Amino acid sequence: MKNIYHSDIYKFETPINSYWEDISQENLNLKKLTKDTNSEIVVIGGGYTGLLCAINLIENHNLDVILVEAGKIGWGASSRNAGFNCLPPSKMSFKKMQSIYGREETKNFFKNSVEGSNHTKDIIKEYNIDCDVTGDSNYVVAHHKNKFEQIKEQAEVYKSEFGIETEIYSKEQFNEIGHGGTEQFGAFSYKPGFAINPLKFVNGIARYALSKKLKIYENTKVDKIDKKNGSYILKTKEGSIRSKKIVVATNGFYQEGLISQMDGRILPIISNVIVTRKLNEDELNAHNFKTFSPIANTKNLLYYYRKLPDNRILFGTRGDLTGSDQSNLAMSKKMEKFLKYIFPKWSNVSIDYNWRGLIALSQKLNPSIGKIENEEIYYGFGYNGVGVSAAPWTGKQLSKLVFSSNSKDLNISKIYKGLPKKFIFPQLRIFYFRLAVWFYTIKDKLNV
Ligand SMILES: Cc1cc2nc3c(=O)[nH]c(=O)nc-3n(C[C@H](O)[C@H](O)[C@H](O)COP(=O)(O)OP(=O)(O)OC[C@H]3O[C@@H](n4cnc5c(N)ncnc54)[C@H](O)[C@@H]3O)c2cc1C
Repeated sequence: MKNIYHSDIYKFETPINSYWEDISQENLNLKKLTKDTNSEIVVIGGGYTGLLCAINLIENHNLDVILVEAGKIGWGASSRNAGFNCLPPSKMSFKKMQSIYGREETKNFFKNSVEGSNHTKDIIKEYNIDCDVTGDSNYVVAHHKNKFEQIKEQAEVYKSEFGIETEIYSKEQFNEIGHGGTEQFGAFSYKPGFAINPLKFVNGIARYALSKKLKIYENTKVDKIDKKNGSYILKTKEGSIRSKKIVVATNGFYQEGLISQMDGRILPIISNVIVTRKLNEDELNAHNFKTFSPIANTKNLLYYYRKLPDNRILFGTRGDLTGSDQSNLAMSKKMEKFLKYIFPKWSNVSIDYNWRGLIALSQKLNPSIGKIENEEIYYGFGYNGVGVSAAPWTGKQLSKLVFSSNSKDLNISKIYKGLPKKFIFPQLRIFYFRLAVWFYTIKDKLNV
């Protein structure tokens, strides 16, 4: 299988050195597959998508399911994200969405996005997961005075068109309840929304899945899939699984060559995160940093940040472009500068953690859920970095499709349905992305 980025980012066997791993220190220590076996369905990928799909197949349809994960459970983005439960899982503006898909379908898409956010909230409760929930909304901050009108319009449309609860704050008002700094020119909030510890969340889901007798194999990477007499044979290093149906839940960590029909359609993007040391009250007050709700700003290459329960600041943005450990380090130094530019009174605050991972984009700019034509292979991916709300919900929707094999049973917005187009010269997709990054960097410099 071919990697799109440097091999450093695909070290499935190595745990990620994240803040979440450091404070949670929990491993499920599940076995790897070491024999040949059978199952009705195999789910590839042990993140939110794969786990929720498997749980629903067992709970609602009583099916025999095996889930295989190349690393430990949640090794991909699900254990190392920033923990924002935000929406929508799209890189397309609502205006563009309306012009392509129409007003009604855009409304449906947003309705599904809100359902996703609430579904995450519901499973935290239902599966009894203690994942350090903080905040009660999401904030979008205007990073320049030119952007305040734009967010006011966004807040109005969210409310009037999509029925989402929003509130607008002037710079002075947001300084009272959110934060100050050099790039705060007013904000709006929307609900639902909150923040979590993603590692505790994914481990909690896995524990629930184990209680429902899902067979999970960790450190079991599917290297090759063959088809024989109407069955699939999934080959791993030390064993194989024969099955009737396959669910591909590998999102940004999909490696080209696994399923030919999926190759060349996913654009994995690196997202980097840094976390500061703990800040004391005086330091937080220096920038009036009050809220524990997640925050994103209005840059094209957006910054996202939040205050963690132990008063550290988590700060993330679009990541490095090669994927090597060295480029990760260089990116984290750059990000420290970005953070300190917007919060200059923290110039002496050190950074305790940095890490990164892959999110999945595609030419569709929206998530993809469906079944590969003439095969019993199902997929759910492409949340554009908004998977905390979208991925568990997608897993649940996908389970209905896997059960019935009939896409008519998938009662969701058609925007989600089907594979994205293949990139022209797919081997150049990272080069196209680099061009886009340069373009948006210039736009951000000009604040347009
Ligand atoms: C740094 C970072 C910050 C983010 N912040 C946020 C945020 O704040 N809010 C938000 O909503 N979203 C965020 N995201 C995105 C979010 O984490 C993802 O959208 C979501 O976790 C996707 O879940 P998933 O289960 O589809 O994929 P993943 O969690 O990535 O899981 C895919 C799994 O497939 C496994 N796999 C791949 N190939 C194979 C194979 N051949 N055999 C077996 N297993 C395989 C991988 O090991 C991996 O564990 C962030 C992502 C990153 C990287």
